Amino acid sequence: MWRAIRQFIDRHDSFVVTSHINPDGDAIGSELGLTYFLRQQGKSVLIMNSTETPEVLRFLDPEDEIRVYGEPGTQKLLDSADAAIIVDVNNWEHVGHIGRALQARSLPRICIDHHQVSQEDFADHMVSDTTAAATGVLILELIRDAGVPLTLPMAEAIFAAIITDTGTFRFSNTDARALRAAADLCEAGCNPFELHRRVFGSKTWGAGRMLGPVLSTLESAAGGRLAWISATVEMVNNAGATHDDMDGFADLVRTIKGVELVVFFKEMAEGEIKVSLRSNGNVDAHALARHFGGGGHIMASGMRVPGPLQHAIDMVTRECLKLSVFSSR
Ligand code: 5GP
Ligand code: MN
Repeated sequence: MWRAIRQFIDRHDSFVVTSHINPDGDAIGSELGLTYFLRQQGKSVLIMNSTETPEVLRFLDPEDEIRVYGEPGTQKLLDSADAAIIVDVNNWEHVGHIGRALQARSLPRICIDHHQVSQEDFADHMVSDTTAAATGVLILELIRDAGVPLTLPMAEAIFAAIITDTGTFRFSNTDARALRAAADLCEAGCNPFELHRRVFGSKTWGAGRMLGPVLSTLESAAGGRLAWISATVEMVNNAGATHDDMDGFADLVRTIKGVELVVFFKEMAEGEIKVSLRSNGNVDAHALARHFGGGGHIMASGMRVPGPLQHAIDMVTRECLKLSVFSSR
């Protein structure tokens, strides 16, 4: 699996590494783990995303080197790259505006990802291993395949990636491969307690203040099998919070007995609605997201739909209720 990727790396000297908009721990951790590996191979690397690194993940990037494409100087910086590696995403829409810059420059590119494939011609070579719990698992396997020593910064970045996408080894994607990866990372010096605390136990007061308002929007249909919550821009502003502060809220609702699917509607500043889907396994969240132009995984997917908020709620829940899981039993 890694031969084509290794050859691609050998053939180029200067890389830009990127991932999806609103990067999560798997996106940031995979980018950093890969970057440290590439530098160990003598490559020059810059990391650039379409949107900012969330506050809680900044500890993974102590040099503050991850750039947001579009900031002054970043277009010029991008000119210095002769190849691109895209991680944890496999479609242009979810890469955001840096994707258009990569396409315009026709940079040779590869993709290392674990989402269901939606665009076959997305990269010159694609690793699309949907059985990998996190893209971080794949980055670790690439490093193992190269036979180079795992440094602590690499290990910590990849550990953060894996705990993000497995919900710290609780989600259905948790398997021996992810746990084995975690064991290797611990042997390389990772402290699971400390890393978990940094990634999940560093919530802001804004996040605390959002919990009440958002959870009080909880509604359900189909005898409690479908549940949804929502957040308006006003709630976010009143709480002095950010959209990242609501990470994990849908997972809380998913723990309610009998719930098969949770839909979380977040009104963004532009009036667009970001929708997160969390399934308990009997609903294919990925298929639903695809129906609305989004993507992700079977258990966790997402998309953006037009507002206003109530319109989005009506439209999406109506589509969900067409599924046989929700028809009356
Ligand atoms: P979240 O709900 O946490 O934002 O995302 C859950 C999963 O769905 C992630 O794997 C994420 O990459 C994917 N996802 C979320 N929003 C979108 C979207 O607008 N387009 C696509 N293709 N995938 C998305
Ligand atoms: Mn991921």
